[in-house]
Amino acid sequence: MRMILLGPPGAGKGTQAANLSIALKIPHISTGDIFRANIKEGTPLGVLAKTYIDAGKLVPDDVTIGIVEKRLENKDCVNGFLMDGFPRTIPQAEKFDAMLEKMGRSVDLVINIEVPDDLIVKRMSGRRMCSCGRTYHVDNNPPQKEGICDACGNKLYIREDDREETVKERLKTYHQQTSPLIDYYKKKGILVNVDGTKSIDDTSREILELIKNHA
Ligand code: ADP
Ligand code: ADP
Ligand code: ZN
Repeated sequence: MRMILLGPPGAGKGTQAANLSIALKIPHISTGDIFRANIKEGTPLGVLAKTYIDAGKLVPDDVTIGIVEKRLENKDCVNGFLMDGFPRTIPQAEKFDAMLEKMGRSVDLVINIEVPDDLIVKRMSGRRMCSCGRTYHVDNNPPQKEGICDACGNKLYIREDDREETVKERLKTYHQQTSPLIDYYKKKGILVNVDGTKSIDDTSREILELIKNHA
């Protein structure tokens, strides 16, 4: 299964991907997580990406595409993958299609998680992250022990780009550059919409049902 999770920042892509990746036994690939790991390690890629991320803008396409191309070479992708936060522009989607075609593959399913802007601003203010990739919410999805990741025991942190002004900028970026992908994949007949305003568990169930029907 080669899947893409599409949706605005804070729609719940990362939360759903973590569960789905286990259920479907395919790797969860988040370009945002890759950038954050590079920022933490202070690599040249991290230094470059940080300037865009902190401004709520997208990292340039050629840089982002290069990262995904390299990641797809990993053996764990042979049976599929779950892309979270990539592609985010039409050129990225076109390059991604070309990349997969060269491997004799294509995207099977695009799940578009729909959440209105006002709800997103609320969600982001309560988001807490772990460096292992797990995501929590102080009210909607709290860890068992406050401030500590259930999965790995590390300390949770607040993303710098989750402050309200940056979230508003990221939403603008989403509407200008990423939302055209909805039509791009609709035209290919592989897009399904999911209501992302329901609870995390209800949304997971809806997505799993859609995947079952698709298969
Ligand atoms: P969210 O989960 O809130 O949508 P991500 O973790 O996916 O955020 O991404 C964080 C930031 O990393 C984005 O705001 C953007 O600056 C950068 N980024 C992530 N994926 C991409 C991409 N495919 N293209 C360009 N920039 C990206
Ligand atoms: P994305 O990866 O799309 O940016 P996340 O998965 O990080 O989104 O979710 C954003 C925030 O909203 C997190 O704090 C997460 O715990 C919370 N969240 C995710 N899905 C839901 C949901 N269905 N209902 C309420 N809160 C949610
Ligand atoms: Zn963790």
